[in-house]
Amino acid sequence: MESFRLTREETETLAALHQTPFLVISLAQVERNYRFFRRHLPRVNAYYAMKANPAPRVLSLLAELGAGFDTASAGEMRMLSELGVEGARMIYANPVKTSEGLQTAARLGVRRMTFDDANEVWKMAELSPGAELLVRIRIRNEKALVDLNAKFGAEAEEAISLLRLARDAGLTPKGVAFHVGSQSLSAEAYEEAILISRHIFDEAEAAGLPLSMLDIGGGFPIPIAGTEPDVETMMERISRQIDQLFPQTEIWAEPGRFFIGTAVNLVTSVIGVKRRGEELWYTIDDGLYGTLSGAIFDHWTYSFEAFREGPSRRATVLGPSCDSIDFVGRDVALPELLQGDLVLVPDCGAYTSASATTFNGFSKAEELYFEDMTAAKKETAV
Ligand SMILES: *Cc1c(COP(=O)(O)O)cnc(C)c1O
Repeated sequence: MESFRLTREETETLAALHQTPFLVISLAQVERNYRFFRRHLPRVNAYYAMKANPAPRVLSLLAELGAGFDTASAGEMRMLSELGVEGARMIYANPVKTSEGLQTAARLGVRRMTFDDANEVWKMAELSPGAELLVRIRIRNEKALVDLNAKFGAEAEEAISLLRLARDAGLTPKGVAFHVGSQSLSAEAYEEAILISRHIFDEAEAAGLPLSMLDIGGGFPIPIAGTEPDVETMMERISRQIDQLFPQTEIWAEPGRFFIGTAVNLVTSVIGVKRRGEELWYTIDDGLYGTLSGAIFDHWTYSFEAFREGPSRRATVLGPSCDSIDFVGRDVALPELLQGDLVLVPDCGAYTSASATTFNGFSKAEELYFEDMTAAKKETAV
């Protein structure tokens, strides 16, 4: 699966018009990612996990394409609602909910929620009576970059008693949810989780709690540090497993990274060059407190590309802040760069701008849309 990648000419043209750092979002790539997902997982309804990147035009595009949304807070639900997305197309997928979140969900008609503990049941019963619930179970997966199961998920053995409790509290038990962890490189983790879910469905049926929805979460990977995961095979295996074990069940997924990760490039400039022994240290104008915040929060390893010719050398890349944690690339191969050179960071759409700050007074990178650039070009050509 190809990523969106600016050419040298496009990067330079944009940099002549906009001050770095800036992000270029390709809506066409978001659409390709969405269609790829739907093609390879045809039974699965996609609910975009908007925390990965809540850029309004990305949300609007996905809404137009027919996606639903995974939300975690009142703020996310309100943002979607302001874009015209109905509550019926949202899931409140944060296992621990705030009163404000539950009230907003009730007001906007968000009926579907996940939970993983008995204490959540009373909250939902009070503020969202009748809500349709999926119990989130815990999955072990060592082949995920970000482990979401350290914080979330009930033990599979507790699932039935939680669902029963929910029913007795006047809520509507509907199914099972899991998240194998973000940037999962393993199809086995999904297969195992789907199998465990099948057992829970069977037990629930026997206990008089028939279930009809399975939520297989997010975790679908994108290229990282020069390696390209075989998502196609992964999705085919998941798809087969779903057909075998859940031929009738409504299936959802909550992809975040997969829809947006490969659709954004960051363009930064070298603002300082230092020699440290044998190494070259490049300070760029975006960093750990900005777009590249995913190096911390998302455990991500970014790729840095430059357009200057020449043999590559080992370099260290640093962000612009005065904090010495602000290292964004170590042992990076780059041609020898000069102050003012542009540096492109591809596959930079997920868990990047979403968690950027303005620490130390540095502005967040401006967000541009590639489609606006091509539209402007067409206009001038006419
Ligand atoms: C973050 C999150 C996702 C998205 O995960 P990706 O790995 O980006 O696909 C989906 N579901 C829930 C509940 C999440 O917290």
